[in-house]
Amino acid sequence: MIPYSRQSIDQSDIDAVVETLKGDFLTGGKTVSDFEEALAAYLGIKHVCVLNSATSALHVAYQIIGLGVGDEVITTPLTFAATSNTAIQCGAKPIFCDIKYDGNINETKLEALITPQTKAIAPVDFGGNPLPIKTIKALCDKHKLFLIEDASHALGSEIDGVKVGNVADMTIFSFHAIKPITTFEGGAIATNNTEFYEKAKLLRSHGIVKKPHWNSDMIALGENYRLSDVACALGLSQMKRLDSFIAKRADIARYYDTRFQNNPYFTTIAIAQTKKSSYHLYPILLDSSLWCAKEELFESLHVKGIGVQVHYKPIYQFSYYKALFGEQRLSTAEDFYRAELSIPCHQGMSMEDAIWIADTLIEEIEKIKGCTR
Ligand SMILES: *Cc1c(COP(=O)(O)O)cnc(C)c1O
Repeated sequence: MIPYSRQSIDQSDIDAVVETLKGDFLTGGKTVSDFEEALAAYLGIKHVCVLNSATSALHVAYQIIGLGVGDEVITTPLTFAATSNTAIQCGAKPIFCDIKYDGNINETKLEALITPQTKAIAPVDFGGNPLPIKTIKALCDKHKLFLIEDASHALGSEIDGVKVGNVADMTIFSFHAIKPITTFEGGAIATNNTEFYEKAKLLRSHGIVKKPHWNSDMIALGENYRLSDVACALGLSQMKRLDSFIAKRADIARYYDTRFQNNPYFTTIAIAQTKKSSYHLYPILLDSSLWCAKEELFESLHVKGIGVQVHYKPIYQFSYYKALFGEQRLSTAEDFYRAELSIPCHQGMSMEDAIWIADTLIEEIEKIKGCTR
């Protein structure tokens, strides 16, 4: 099975992990700050604080802005549940804004959702395609809101030559196994705000500060969200190949873009000339005549060994959300969910794999007889 995304581990990664395993510090050592500095240099950002997942990073970012009961966070329904779950964990209410047909939040619909309770906007760079983040930041500034960008898909993505992560108050990255680079599990907060950075480091380690000798003090209610030195050694090693991973995914994406141009069955998402995507996902959007056959297509592709996946079921459709916030429907998010399939696009694939996937995809669609309902 060729999955929609996959980690790429080579001997240098294995050596880096093994070397750290033999060292003095499995956690709490210098490899953590080395990884943070490498990320900050790569992103061109002042500070990076790594944590044990992007979920932890989101939780800490919301805690840093003081998100609590009675507050609202405007976010996208087209994301992994953690983006809004962590806001709920802080006591806040997620307000879902509809998306555009490229999977990113519809920035023109944000302002109408702002209320006196709104504390932050938390958009996602869907699939690695950079958001119009400056427009959203200007809106946040106008209404004195925090901007937390969930860039879990977008490490290495750029707009106008600037890496994603340079505009929001805090930008979140994920190093889960199949994200752009991996530390097994892991995440980060990138920020140019020194106060936020200091607070992030405090909260990821119990809120405890060290004092002379054995003395210490606990000055905030924190968690243990630390990332180990072993994980950071893998991250540092992966960083060296990040740009080559992205280049490989971009090659495959360019092939798909050309190959699928003007086909009658689905559209693809064009990345603007001014942008560079990490291509964490390569989504195709099936024509509405095929929506009812998506399960059939999904199954037949899996039988052929093509591990397509769907990103995402709109968050408000989950039972937990329905029980808390009632039924909701946002029309573009609904259509996107019915249309979307993520096809394999990752650095572990060869161009021959991509050609075979494209051929098989078209063949399998052509086998579909039509919808039986
Ligand atoms: C993967 C992902 C997360 C969670 O990342 P973890 O590191 O697994 O906690 C959050 N948001 C989005 C958009 C993601 O894709």
